[in-house]
Amino acid sequence: MGIAPAFNKRIVILGGGTAGWIAANAMIERWGAQGADITLIESPDIGTVGVGEGSTPRLKVFLDQIGVKESEWMPPCNATYKNGISFVNWSTKPGFERYFHPFASQVDRFTTTAFFFNTLARRRGIDVHAHPDRFSLTARLSDNRQGPIPDENFPFENDYGYHFDAQLLGEYLGDIAKSRGVRHLQARVTDVNRAPDGDIASLSIEDGGAVDGDFFVDCSGFRGALIQQALQVPFRSFSENLFNDSAVVLPTAQSDRIGSQTVSTALKFGWAWEIPLTHRIGNGYVYSSAFCSPDDAETELREFLGLQDSDVEARHLRMKVGRLESHWHRNCLAVGLSQGFIEPLEATALNIVCNTVYRFMESVDADGGLGGAGRKVFNDKVNEEFEAVRDYIVAHYVLNSRRDTAYWVQNAQNPNLPPMLRRILEIWTTGHNLSQEIESGRIRSSYTPRSWYCLLAGYGYYPEINPAVPDSEMPDRIDLAEVDEFVRRCALNFRSQNELLQFSRASGAPAA
Ligand SMILES: Cc1cc2nc3c(=O)[nH]c(=O)nc-3n(C[C@H](O)[C@H](O)[C@H](O)COP(=O)(O)OP(=O)(O)OC[C@H]3O[C@@H](n4cnc5c(N)ncnc54)[C@H](O)[C@@H]3O)c2cc1C
Repeated sequence: MGIAPAFNKRIVILGGGTAGWIAANAMIERWGAQGADITLIESPDIGTVGVGEGSTPRLKVFLDQIGVKESEWMPPCNATYKNGISFVNWSTKPGFERYFHPFASQVDRFTTTAFFFNTLARRRGIDVHAHPDRFSLTARLSDNRQGPIPDENFPFENDYGYHFDAQLLGEYLGDIAKSRGVRHLQARVTDVNRAPDGDIASLSIEDGGAVDGDFFVDCSGFRGALIQQALQVPFRSFSENLFNDSAVVLPTAQSDRIGSQTVSTALKFGWAWEIPLTHRIGNGYVYSSAFCSPDDAETELREFLGLQDSDVEARHLRMKVGRLESHWHRNCLAVGLSQGFIEPLEATALNIVCNTVYRFMESVDADGGLGGAGRKVFNDKVNEEFEAVRDYIVAHYVLNSRRDTAYWVQNAQNPNLPPMLRRILEIWTTGHNLSQEIESGRIRSSYTPRSWYCLLAGYGYYPEINPAVPDSEMPDRIDLAEVDEFVRRCALNFRSQNELLQFSRASGAPAA
């Protein structure tokens, strides 16, 4: 057997935000026993971005992979369970002013056929109920502030994500990584020193000295200190599809009954998130600075939250939306905001972080090490993921039916549709089988057919009802009362978010 690829290699991670600590934990867990020597450097003077409080189910998979229990990490990070995201006021079509995008549920298998059947009929102009929420268990759970984990005797599972305090999660993951052998250096990196072949050789730090390494992981945030500034890997902006480049953030108090979904409400020049944590609600307004000034955005968010007279301070942020051309270049891997960012509408950033890190480690282990044999395939895959996520996000903007500001009008009329999204919309409007196209791989998407159907149906992206379509076109009708009763009975097996968060420390599972 050959030598393990990471054997005795010195890996230096720059950046101690969520991305840096996720990378550190994943690598020490996989390569620590092979003698990989991992150092994480972060500047005490350069803060982390400090936002990013919602996840997809990928974060649960990651925490399971590194063996961290919910009862251990959730309470100190003020974390809650997340069933999915509600989109409010993106569509103005009657009956479609809000819809829920659920994470996958095994129960939804039983309602998917009925849901897809009705969407197809509605696409042909037949007057049937074709809004997604009635067909979704977790939409109901979220309305009732119930969590995603069923009682023991219920044999079906839901995927779920989390809401958490980003700062606290970073610190928690840092403590875990340090306890498992990651060296932590608090220092500002001032220079990137290159070897004669162009690779990175070491990082100079502020008070003198340098940290040598065989491989470097750039988790330095939007600045991309290694991959962008030193190695000059080009950045591809997504601004022609995604206009938002700014955010303003304001916390509010938590109510007694904690919610179990993120709520995304469209405002005049973007959208506001509402993320329930145990001790507060995180709120932010993501908007386009081409249409709205920071002051106007803050005023609109304050009005929306009823905080006009409050002295709670707002934080303003800029976002760089797009991706690198390559995420692994020479002996450097970019992870997190340094590799790119798609605005947080579907909370996908940490999903991409985890996928990037694990895909990288698999490539190194399978394709011959850190030298770069698997680099091209790896970069293509990461770019594909970025683009698939982008297309799903762009769909929200293109399908909006608001006409109250130039921002929404220009989004709806944006001619720069990515080809895959154009194709999806065409398949949907011409009544073809979108589900089959995605499942067969003819359309590549990291989102499931159900997610696409929820989005398209949730916006009411249908033609006018056509009374001339004969009844013979649809001899069987879905019995909606039966669907309602099925979903209602399933929901009886789930407890409230508040109850779920009463962890039984002994078992490491939510309280029984
Ligand atoms: C408005 C907004 C909302 C978001 N919402 C979500 C969400 O809901 N879900 C989600 O998954 N993601 C979200 N994200 C993205 C998420 O915040 C980030 O992906 C995540 O926090 C990871 O950030 P990071 O670790 O890459 O960078 P950062 O948090 O910026 O960390 C950078 C680190 O690099 C260090 N550093 C930089 N330069 C140097 C230097 N020269 N020397 C030493 N150290 C240095 C800093 O000290 C810091 O530790 C959101 C982002 C924004 C902007």
